[in-house]
Amino acid sequence: MELKTVGIPRGMLYYRYETLWKTFFEKLGAEIRVSDSTTHRIAERGMSLTIDEACLSIKVYFGHVNELIGKCDYIFIPRICNFGRNRDMCPRFHAMYDVARNMFRNSGQKFLTCNIDVLGGEGELKAFLSLGQSLGCSVKSTLGAYKAAKKEEQRVWKKKVQKQKRLLEKDVLKILIAGHDYLIEDSFIGKPITDFLKKSGVLPISAGIVDRDTALKRSVDMSPTCKWQLNREIIGGIGMYKNKIDGIIFLSAFPCGPDAMVNELMLRRIDGLPMLNLILDGQNGTAGTETRLESFLDIIRFKRGLL
Ligand code: SF4
Repeated sequence: MELKTVGIPRGMLYYRYETLWKTFFEKLGAEIRVSDSTTHRIAERGMSLTIDEACLSIKVYFGHVNELIGKCDYIFIPRICNFGRNRDMCPRFHAMYDVARNMFRNSGQKFLTCNIDVLGGEGELKAFLSLGQSLGCSVKSTLGAYKAAKKEEQRVWKKKVQKQKRLLEKDVLKILIAGHDYLIEDSFIGKPITDFLKKSGVLPISAGIVDRDTALKRSVDMSPTCKWQLNREIIGGIGMYKNKIDGIIFLSAFPCGPDAMVNELMLRRIDGLPMLNLILDGQNGTAGTETRLESFLDIIRFKRGLL
C-alpha cells in the first residue's frame, strides 16, 4: 500500500494492544504516530470535549484523539464488544469510534476501525483482515502482518509477566494495584500513585499483568457471575497474587460502573489483607490521595511489625 500514517491515541486499549497494533500496521508499511503521554493539558482538553457522565479514562482518551487530529491519515479506534460468552467489554468500548467520528465530524479527519464481537461472529482475525482491506492491502500481506503481530504480542506479554513474577519474589513491601492498565500506566492518572509508592519504598504490582487465560479461570472462584472481561482478568490476578503481597489498592476512574460493582464485591470477599479503594476523578490533585496512601502504608507497615 501507499505509505500511510496511522495515529493511535495513547489511552484505553493502547496499553493492552500496543505491540499488536504497532507491529501489525508497521508490517503493512504504515507509519505509526502515537499521541504523547497524558499531560494536564491533554486531560483538560478531553474533559472539555466529553459529557460529565463519561468516566475519567474516556475523557482522557478523547484528549488524546484530539491531539492527533490533522496529524495523520487515519486515527485508529477499534469497536470491541465482547470476546465470547461472559467476556464482555464495557459499553464505552463499543461506542468510542462512533463518538470520535461524531465529535470531530467537521475536522476532515479520517478514522479507521474494526469490529470485535465474537458472539456476533466477528473474531479478531476477521477484524484484522477488514483493517487490511480498509488500508488497501492484500489478504496475504494482511494475514502475514497479523500472524507476525500476534507472535510479537505473545513474546512481549510473556516477558512482562515473567518480570513481574521476579519482582514478587523480592523481600520488600508489595502492594497489588487492582485496576485497568489504562489507569495504572497513564502518566496523569495512575503513574503519580505508583511513583509515590516506589518513592516510599513499596513495590507496586499490577493485578492485570498475569497469564490471562489462567486469570479468567481463577476469576470464577472470586465471582462466578462477573461478565466483564477486563475485570475478570484483574480479579483472577488478585486470586493468583494475593498470598504474595502486603495489601491491595483498588484503583478506579469515576464514575465507572463495572469497577464500582466488582471492587465493592472484592472488598467484601477478601479477608486478612489491608485494602484501599481509590476512585479518581481527575479533579482531586495529588495531596489528598497522597495523604490516604501514607495512612494506608502506615497500616501495612504496622501489620508487618515495621512501625
Ligand atoms: S470499564 Fe470503567 S473505566 Fe473502563 S471504560 Fe468502562 S466505565 Fe470507563
